[in-house]
Amino acid sequence: MDRRSFIATSVGAAALATSLADTIAAVGDDPLVVSTWDHGMAANAAALAALVSGGSVVDAVERGVMVTEADPTNLSVGLSGLPDRDGIVTLDACIMSGDGRAGSACFLQGIAHPISLARMVMEKTPHVMLVGAGAERFARENGITQKPNALSAEAKKAWEQWLTEKKYKPVINIENHDTIGLLARDAQGRMAGACTTSGLAYKIHGRVGDSPIIGAGLFVDDEVGGATCTGLGESVIRTSASTIAVERMRYGATPQEACEEAIKRIVKKHDNWKDFQVGILAIDKQGRYGAFALHKGFTYALNKELKTAGAYG
Ligand code: ASP
Repeated sequence: MDRRSFIATSVGAAALATSLADTIAAVGDDPLVVSTWDHGMAANAAALAALVSGGSVVDAVERGVMVTEADPTNLSVGLSGLPDRDGIVTLDACIMSGDGRAGSACFLQGIAHPISLARMVMEKTPHVMLVGAGAERFARENGITQKPNALSAEAKKAWEQWLTEKKYKPVINIENHDTIGLLARDAQGRMAGACTTSGLAYKIHGRVGDSPIIGAGLFVDDEVGGATCTGLGESVIRTSASTIAVERMRYGATPQEACEEAIKRIVKKHDNWKDFQVGILAIDKQGRYGAFALHKGFTYALNKELKTAGAYG
């Protein structure tokens, strides 16, 4: 590199560093945590506790959703989740830091905390996504115990019931899913997000939804904000819904407007939108938040408060 281009590059890098520093310094108030559904209340409490005790915003989002993953009564996140149509629980998760780092692990069997594996992918590998047997091997090599495949009593009962009623066809409706997506912003304006799920109940073995897909189920950028989705993953992947929300905020939308835009895009691209549910949450670097859904009934946790989002339909 000649001296002139070296100076130009250095000046450009310095300007970028200054603008990022301005972004972070311009904000600075209380931490903000939002997460999907009622189970977000317990997750938010753990995420806020992590922030208050000096943890990073990435620690906060991981510890938050770990609570949901470990809840033995939860039928849509973690090993107690409902299985695929073959009776096998497969789990998906991703994590993203607002500085652009991301990790994802999906189609996992017997891994109690997919979010921690996703974080390991982010921090210990040059990759973003590991899948199935390879991801499980990477987990074991890094000290994570893989549990034998087993259904909880409640999941087994529900699956057996489904087999008799649904005639072994995968079903896509508005009831059988409830991922946790959690977004956090610390007092310095740094943001991160985590998303983890057992996916659509009674899916075809091998199906992966939006939840572990960076840009679909989750997207975070410290320069702008973050967004996360829950609901029918196929519709969220097709529209890159979290990316839409973040990019709308980049060009001036509030988090609420951004969520509404993303939901409207799903409506526009799906003639059958009345048949399924999607909910989306967003936060921005100023500490504002938004929430919206296709249909009524999407609840979310805002710090320590449970709220219900507005809906398109
Ligand atoms: N988005 C998840 C999926 O499609 C389901 C959910 O939100 O519960 O796998």
